[in-house]
Amino acid sequence: MKELAVRCLYSALVVVSWLATSARAESWCDAAPLPVLAALTQVDSGEDWFKIYVVADGVFAITEPRQAEGVNSFLIVGSRRAILFDSGLGVGRIGKVVSKLTPLPVTVLNSHTHFDHVGGNAEFADVRNLNIPYSLASSRGQVDPALAEYARPTLAEDRVCGPLPTEVTSREYKIPTWRISRYIEDNERIDLGSRTLEVLRTPGHTPDSMTLLDRARGLLFTGDTYYSNQIYLWAPGTDLGAYRASIDRLVALRPGLKALLPAHGAPTADPEQLVELQTALREIVAGSAPSTPAPQNRRVFRFEHFSILMAQPPETARAPK
Ligand SMILES: [Zn+2]
Repeated sequence: MKELAVRCLYSALVVVSWLATSARAESWCDAAPLPVLAALTQVDSGEDWFKIYVVADGVFAITEPRQAEGVNSFLIVGSRRAILFDSGLGVGRIGKVVSKLTPLPVTVLNSHTHFDHVGGNAEFADVRNLNIPYSLASSRGQVDPALAEYARPTLAEDRVCGPLPTEVTSREYKIPTWRISRYIEDNERIDLGSRTLEVLRTPGHTPDSMTLLDRARGLLFTGDTYYSNQIYLWAPGTDLGAYRASIDRLVALRPGLKALLPAHGAPTADPEQLVELQTALREIVAGSAPSTPAPQNRRVFRFEHFSILMAQPPETARAPK
C-alpha cells in the first residue's frame, strides 16, 4: 500500500515540483519515466496493464505503472521452480503474464498482505503465507476499515492512467481474497534449483511483512519495508519498534548485498539506503528529525532517498532503543 500520487513520481526533486503544481489536472500520468528504468531491458508482457523489466539474471519486475500505487511484483526463476513475490493489484491478469515468462511451476509468496500485493493470489494454486492472524484475516478479505477505505478508490479515474483492462468492467475495487495452500516460516529456505531464497520475517509495516534474500547474488526483495519513496508507517497494524528491529536485521546483511528490489516505484535501489533508513528512524525516535504536518493527523519526515509518513504521535513507546 502506498500513497496515491507521491510514490508515482520519480525523485525528490520531481515530487517537490509536482507538489508545487498539483492543481493541474494531468498530475502523475504525465510524469517522465523513472530514470532507472531506462537502463533495464524491457520484456513485452502481451498485456497492456503490465510493464516487465529484467532487473537481474532470472528476475523480472512485473510493474503496474498505470495505477497510482506504482506497485512492483517480482518473478524469480530457478532451474526447476519459480517464486512470484507479490501478485499486484489484481486488476490485470498477472497469471497470464507469468505463464509467458516461465513454464515452471510457480509458488506465490507475499511481501505482506496489503491489498496491492495480493490481488492476483487467487489466480495461483500454490500460495504460501505466514500462519499468523493478520495473514489469515487478509486472505479472507477481513481488512481494517481504514485500509478498506484507502483501497476503495483504487480504480477511480484519478488513480488510473488510460483504460482499464478489458476484463475489468467496474471501477468498484474489491478487496482480494485467496486460499493459502501452505504456511511458511521465518528463515525458511526455498530451493528453486540453481537458486535458493531465504524468507526473513521483517515485521513493522505490517505484522506479516517479510523480505526475500537471494544470498548468493546479493539480492534483497524488500516489499514495502523499504522503497525509495514515501514509506508508510501510519496504517493499522504498523509497529514502529518492530520496524526498527527489522531494519536493523536488514542492515546487518548490507556487506553482502548488491541490490534492493522494492515493491513500489523504482524496482531497484542501492542497499546503502538501508543504512540511511536506520539512521533516519533513530533520529525520528530521538525527536531530532524535522517533520511537517500531513492530513489525518500524520507527519512527514523527509530524507535524501525517501520520506516517512507516520501517525501522530508515532508509536515510539514500544521502540526498543
Ligand atoms: Zn503495504
